Amino acid sequence: MWNSKLETLDRTSLEELQMRKLARALESAARTSYYSRVFADCGIEVAKIRSIRDIKELPFTTKNDLRLSYPDGMLAVPRGDVVRMHASSGTTGKSTVIFYTMKDVGDWADLVARCMAATGATREDVFQNMMGYGLFTGGLGLHYGAERLGCLVIPSAAGNTLRQIQLIRDFGTTIIHITPSYALHLGDEAAAQGIDPKRLAVKKAYLGAEPYSEATRDKIEAQWGLDAYNSYGLSEMNGPGVAFECVEKKGMHIWEDYYYIEVIDPDSGRLLSDGEQGELVITHLNREAMPMIRYRTRDLTAVIPEPCPCGRSHRRIERIKGRTDDMLFIGGVNVFPSQIETVLMNVPEVGNNYQIVLDRQENLDRMHIRVELYSKMFHRDLRELERLRSQLVKELQALIAVTPRIEILEPGSLPPSTGKAVRVIDNRKI
Ligand code: ADP
Ligand code: ZN
Repeated sequence: MWNSKLETLDRTSLEELQMRKLARALESAARTSYYSRVFADCGIEVAKIRSIRDIKELPFTTKNDLRLSYPDGMLAVPRGDVVRMHASSGTTGKSTVIFYTMKDVGDWADLVARCMAATGATREDVFQNMMGYGLFTGGLGLHYGAERLGCLVIPSAAGNTLRQIQLIRDFGTTIIHITPSYALHLGDEAAAQGIDPKRLAVKKAYLGAEPYSEATRDKIEAQWGLDAYNSYGLSEMNGPGVAFECVEKKGMHIWEDYYYIEVIDPDSGRLLSDGEQGELVITHLNREAMPMIRYRTRDLTAVIPEPCPCGRSHRRIERIKGRTDDMLFIGGVNVFPSQIETVLMNVPEVGNNYQIVLDRQENLDRMHIRVELYSKMFHRDLRELERLRSQLVKELQALIAVTPRIEILEPGSLPPSTGKAVRVIDNRKI
């Protein structure tokens, strides 16, 4: 373990530590123009918060609050103390900006080193970072953590597939950090060049930045012959390194000495118990530049109550099912894209890329799913394709209670993505 004392801290000591850190976080929040106003409006005296559970007296912070405080309404330190800024990808609108002091940047690297060590990574590893560098946190976030762990870091960034493969071969890359959609594409490209990804030195993949299914993980592991670990983070909470799978690969440890977590019912805001699925709310307990109190992530998950066999005391969260704002309403039925993906990726004839297109015709919602065929299956006769189409319709109907139209495409017909994949095209809003 990277820091076995902190990673195995007993629950009582962990809660005491959280409370001490919360008191500091609240003091610094009160120095920002945003929280000083919110606390005053709600009549909150932060000194009165005595137990970590009293946190529920405080209001939530939303992405919109961050947007309205743009550019620096949530800054808790003088501008001169800030050494870095990042911005979220803007998947759901205007992106939000996050600031870091030198200490924040160092703490973040330490957390990421902790995550990587939990997967068995060491200073002997060669780490190829295929996430976007720049304002997006995915690139630099893992970069400094991997250096801190002592890996050889190849900052290859996203895209340029042929060069990625060349680097993997020439430098014997053992760990890749990549979006799940790009991992599949990269594996296909390697195969197209006559290189079996399984024969490369890559042993681990860190997959994150977008929701994906367990079936996609299985597919990537089989394609590459590696262990894939789920990696979760969001810019509002630093970036990657918030929660990560350990070698058990059964849910992601969320580092509770840095992050206080709650799960709420997204509609009512009611607090849910461990094991219940809802929206993850995180309080950053460790940040100087930009304290973040009860931030509504919009990500849907549940806390896994059982302790992990690896011995870490920090609780785990389940794979993110989607975002509250990802949920599709189709003809009165709620559907998450991740449910559709689970069906598609479990069918061996289906390739790596798909797209969900929604339209409204004569006041009825229609779902149209475009799926690429797996390359080796492509030269099939029409009857076979027809059978595949009706199998997909049947399985999707059973799971999501919507009858989609399925279009089967040649491999490579849909644009591959190197960053966060855009899976849903909703023409109904136009
Ligand atoms: P944006 O909200 O603009 O996409 P970020 O770039 O900060 O901003 O991305 C963070 C979001 O990406 C998370 O809130 C979550 O929705 C998604 N995400 C990150 N990692 C994962 C993961 N492992 N599984 C599912 N979703 C993830
Ligand atoms: Zn574990």
